[in-house]
Amino acid sequence: MNVRTRFAPSPTGTLHIGVARTAIFNWLFAKRNNGKFYLRIEDTDRERSKDEYVESIKHGLNWLGLNWDGNIVFQSQRVERHKEVAQALINKGVAYHCYATQEEIQNFRDANPGQKFISKWRDGAQYYGSSLPVVRLRINDDGMTKINDLVLGEIEVKNGEMDDMVLLRSDKTPTYLLSCVVDDYDMQISHIIRGNDHLTNTFRQLQILKAIGWKEPSYVHIPLIHGNDGRKISKRDGGVGLEEYRESGYLPEALFNYLLRLGWGHENREIINAQEAIQIFNLADISKSPARFDLDKLNFINQYYIRSLDDEIIFAKIINQVNKELLNEKCLEKIKKSISLIKSRGQTINDLVDLVSIFISYSNPIDEQSKEILALNESKQILVNILDTFKDEQNWNADMLKQLCSNFAAKYEIKISVIMKALRAGVLGTFKSPPIYETLEILGKEETMHRISQIIDQG
Ligand code: GLU
Repeated sequence: MNVRTRFAPSPTGTLHIGVARTAIFNWLFAKRNNGKFYLRIEDTDRERSKDEYVESIKHGLNWLGLNWDGNIVFQSQRVERHKEVAQALINKGVAYHCYATQEEIQNFRDANPGQKFISKWRDGAQYYGSSLPVVRLRINDDGMTKINDLVLGEIEVKNGEMDDMVLLRSDKTPTYLLSCVVDDYDMQISHIIRGNDHLTNTFRQLQILKAIGWKEPSYVHIPLIHGNDGRKISKRDGGVGLEEYRESGYLPEALFNYLLRLGWGHENREIINAQEAIQIFNLADISKSPARFDLDKLNFINQYYIRSLDDEIIFAKIINQVNKELLNEKCLEKIKKSISLIKSRGQTINDLVDLVSIFISYSNPIDEQSKEILALNESKQILVNILDTFKDEQNWNADMLKQLCSNFAAKYEIKISVIMKALRAGVLGTFKSPPIYETLEILGKEETMHRISQIIDQG
């Protein structure tokens, strides 16, 4: 099988995660079959298409590791070819110039709700006015159009339910329905894999193919992604743009894995990376029903991939996101040492960035729990006394600190947990941190004492 797939986004917005999933399925199906995967930018809507969105699409695909074959096809550069095909259809007698105005069509629809508009020009009536025509395809009123979808099975509609669709607008620009068919044919696309919101387009495009006499490609319509409330995924579910996820500290390999599993499955396995997916991806296991976006699952998968990264890579990713002006050699050293301690404590890289901030400075703002603890006289007293105890300590490490605090607790008859809380509040200013003794070990004696002194001085 000579498989050629394509991803055909319109650059009218940044890359949506649902659309990114369509790209993943197309890419995987091509890779699985030693085929080709192409990128076509459907930029015929000149007003809404923007270069920055083309860049966002390219960047998003690269980020996910979805490399495309050959050059990018820009649909806007192929307009002449689309017009040529429309003309061929007119010459063949299966498309016609229609002079009905928008107003006429609207009036008809208002007066006959639910009925399809039948142009009086479809049978070659002469026109003597001056308005510019659109070009429509004449659809047979009889018979059925059938999609043999490789996932959904056979789906049919009555031809009589379809309007004579517009192929060229009155300004001679081709419509998406025509351009897409012509480009898919010229690019020799074997399988069209896209969201099932395109089903009605497919019925129409099959009509165009039939009218020209071109062979049908295979079709796969993937169920859409819904949010938690069962409706189309939205901001409330965690966002819809791939970039939002990248900026929130999700790893590309995690998002790839998550989106792949959203609507496709293999033996109920959650973790499947791209290399493995290439070996096992198939169309038969694409689900027929809508997938539900589940942020908790994405977080779980992201955490899994973060844990599997080498410490140096996690370190580099964290540093990449920290304000460079705040970092000096000592901080960098501490952050590096802290990676093994924190790497399993965050679901995103951004969580880890938050966690390492305690090695850069005392928490600003200080969290509520720390504020409450520091407001207690007992805590202040603990900090004053423990500063004194720390002073003479030579072996600054977690075990020693644990021992020291336990001796301290016994000596002053205070619960160890109370001491630990005072230390968190006084040295870190946040309760969102790794285990306290290990944290203090990395922070170092000098910095720990400096922070405690400052808190004491502030009263
Ligand atoms: N450009 C269309 C869109 O962004 C996709 C067309 C297709 O996949 O056929 O929805």
